[in-house]
Amino acid sequence: MSCIFCKIIKKGIPAEVVFENEDVIAFKDIKPIAPVHIVIIPKRHIASVVNLKEEDEILMGKLIMTAKKIADDLKISEKGYKLLIRVGRGGGQEVDHIHLHLLSGGNA
Ligand code: 5GP
Ligand code: ZN
Repeated sequence: MSCIFCKIIKKGIPAEVVFENEDVIAFKDIKPIAPVHIVIIPKRHIASVVNLKEEDEILMGKLIMTAKKIADDLKISEKGYKLLIRVGRGGGQEVDHIHLHLLSGGNA
């Protein structure tokens, strides 16, 4: 298994996990581009938005609801934040396991 995020899910490589349930895991980005930079991923491997199927609709909603919960926990909801999904190399996606970036502060 070569997917780095699947390795994080299976605790094969360490990450600073900030939230986890049966469907979703969220951890601090290893190279943050903002004071708050969390990566939120489904535990099921889906490479990209391009690969989403109809039945993934609820799971993708769970990613956004997880971002909302983490933002509330971090008390950044009032100030505001950015949610970002990169799609494909042209969109800047480097890790081929679908993920939502939660960014706040700095120039984010
Ligand atoms: P992308 O460019 O694919 O949207 O974002 C991938 C993100 O994953 C990057 O911000 C990168 O810093 C982060 N990342 C890549 N490898 C690791 C890792 O092993 N651990 C953590 N915590 N983040 C990673
Ligand atoms: Zn994966």
